[in-house]
Amino acid sequence: MKKALLAFSIAGAMMLSISPVVDAVGNGPNYGGNETVNTSILHTYDELSSFLKKEEAKQKDMELEVIGQSVKGRDLYLVKYMKNPENPTILFLTQQHGNEQLTTEGALEFIKHLGTGKMKGVTDGVNILVVPMLNADGAMGDVDFSLDDYVASGGRNLTRYNALGIDLNRDHITKIQPETKALHDNVMRKYDVDYMIDLHHQGTQSEIDNEYVSGSILYPTTPNVDEDVVLKSKKLGAVVYDSIEKKGWGHLGKYNGGSAETISRNGIAVEYGISTLLFEMRGMSDHSYESYVLGQKSNGYLIKQTITTLDATVRAIADRSIESKDISFWDTLPFQTTRTTE
Ligand SMILES: [Zn+2]
Repeated sequence: MKKALLAFSIAGAMMLSISPVVDAVGNGPNYGGNETVNTSILHTYDELSSFLKKEEAKQKDMELEVIGQSVKGRDLYLVKYMKNPENPTILFLTQQHGNEQLTTEGALEFIKHLGTGKMKGVTDGVNILVVPMLNADGAMGDVDFSLDDYVASGGRNLTRYNALGIDLNRDHITKIQPETKALHDNVMRKYDVDYMIDLHHQGTQSEIDNEYVSGSILYPTTPNVDEDVVLKSKKLGAVVYDSIEKKGWGHLGKYNGGSAETISRNGIAVEYGISTLLFEMRGMSDHSYESYVLGQKSNGYLIKQTITTLDATVRAIADRSIESKDISFWDTLPFQTTRTTE
């Protein structure tokens, strides 16, 4: 009798473990060609504009500024909370790659939170800058190249590149594209920024410890960056790691990134002495390559991952607890690897 029960429960457990319905920690379902990826649930550029204008009218501490225009003439926004110029300042940048939108969804939600009692007093100790949806044309699929291979439907396509087919996150030295030029001329050079988190999405198949990650993080890795800037970047990463890992869905790896200064994580750290962190969330909103796209059932925890990241870092900077953060986890955090399937 006992044996039969045991056999039954093992069989049951085995069935559960291979069932795609049971999401292990951080594991949302893949797109896999089976799920419709409906992008109509994401904010359009126009919806983002009216959201920001409405919040500015509601929130007395928030200021909205236009920092430039995209190739196709869309206004690019900077959201500012700057109560005291003496306070440290953090910048959150989203959607340099237009097909990586859940970070923007999270940033908008966070901006809404900043206007509520939940965040009372936080902006007394930290200045917050948010540049959401830097690649507005790519986010709207309003580009001068073919989108025939893109997998999303029911709304719009979203592309990594800007309207001219250029990767904005390879343009931080030359700054030729209007979007990167606007960021450098009217944000990086104008404000005394101490920290920056550059928010992205990566493919769906990255893992550590045989488990898909919910994202990966990395500090500047060019030899030209000041040691103290790297140390502060690692502390910023520690705040993010500690806030995400304790969530049931949180599982972070170390991003395997290079030393090129054309990307913001390295270039901005060197040029302005800003402590930067790259955060790559799992899966993209659209792509021509199927295994990069994550089904929208995972949207909830990935949006939460952005909100948690922004919330935890502004609080740690505001109360200065970031300064005593233990960074030893970086020495043991494994680089993520790509799961080979089929
Ligand atoms: Zn990206």
